[in-house]
Amino acid sequence: MIYRKFGNTGEKISALGFGCMRFPEYEKDGTMYVDQDKVDEMIHEAYALGVNYFDTAPYYCNKNSEAAVGAAVKPFRDKVLLSTKIPLDVCKKPGDYRRQLESSLDRMGTDHIDFYHFWGISRREYDEIIKAQDLLADAQKAKEEGLIRHISFSFHDDPSAIKYIIDCSKERGIPMESMLVQYNLLDRSNEEMLTYAVSQGLGTVAMGPVGGGRLSAPTELYAKLTGKASIPTYELAFKFVLGNPDLNCALSGMQTLEMVKQNAALASSAEGFSKEEWAQLGESMEQLKKFSELYCTGCKYCQPCPAGIEIPKIFNMYTYHNVYGLKDTAQNMYDRYVKDGGKLLADCKNCGFCERKCPQHLQIRKELEKVEAVFRKER
Ligand code: SF4
Ligand code: SF4
Repeated sequence: MIYRKFGNTGEKISALGFGCMRFPEYEKDGTMYVDQDKVDEMIHEAYALGVNYFDTAPYYCNKNSEAAVGAAVKPFRDKVLLSTKIPLDVCKKPGDYRRQLESSLDRMGTDHIDFYHFWGISRREYDEIIKAQDLLADAQKAKEEGLIRHISFSFHDDPSAIKYIIDCSKERGIPMESMLVQYNLLDRSNEEMLTYAVSQGLGTVAMGPVGGGRLSAPTELYAKLTGKASIPTYELAFKFVLGNPDLNCALSGMQTLEMVKQNAALASSAEGFSKEEWAQLGESMEQLKKFSELYCTGCKYCQPCPAGIEIPKIFNMYTYHNVYGLKDTAQNMYDRYVKDGGKLLADCKNCGFCERKCPQHLQIRKELEKVEAVFRKER
């Protein structure tokens, strides 16, 4: 495993981090459970292969992820870095930060969290919640008491807000120590801000290194981009993210033991891209991306749609069609969706929920209209 200096935190972080949002689950009597045996197996394997950063959050896996990770890392708790998050919508009155933190500690069965993130914040939330309630002071107090070791944030907004958040926290005298942002070959919008964060001493972690799953599908993408022999697309995606020296760790939401082994092998290989290859790849990808007018990360914040429209699924088909040129695959996916009774724009109740929730600010209804027109034409 390759380890990188994690900003000024004094930690060394593994280049591969375990994103604990896609654990295997099962249903029993209408309740969802995490398959703890499988989680234990995956996490123990990841640890044995050198992964030392495990990232969870209170709502992941039907609210079961924190407990599952906590239980799995118990035998080596002090050898790994645990990261979780505080949802800002629970912070309404004094004491809420502390209460939320204590419930996370409780669920995880640990006496401290290594990286405690303000979860998915925007500039507006920073101003209206964190600043307004001085939550940084609460975080500092928790840090002094040893309940958290580092203050962090994860982010969904315009990249310029990253600088604002880092600078304001520094001015408050309680600097952010690490950040978790979206970054992959398809979405490099935060690249400049990664460099800024590093210059300010923050550790940096990427979520979505394989583009919400789209880059994990096997394609001839590398060959298409470089004219060289093809490599699996997930390998291309990982190497691209880890090829950025301003990125300390790439999180992967691993679902199987196989994925753990595969990703750990990539993050252990010294054979990354050369600086020139990396730059060339990025450039070629940008060109390819020009063909895409739509970008959906597959985050599912727009779900559940009251009309049952599976928006991320439909957009995913469009990305296959438009970005990667996998037209037949995409058309088959669409035809199957329709055949299985999948809902479409005609079922939309125009409630606007999806567009209010979408961190990418997509005009979802308009995009659906466009996407469906493409697939209808090709049927
Ligand atoms: S506006 Fe339409 S597509 Fe969006 S959540 Fe409401 S019903 Fe679903
Ligand atoms: S909220 Fe937006 S980015 Fe996320 S899955 Fe829905 S459409 Fe895609």
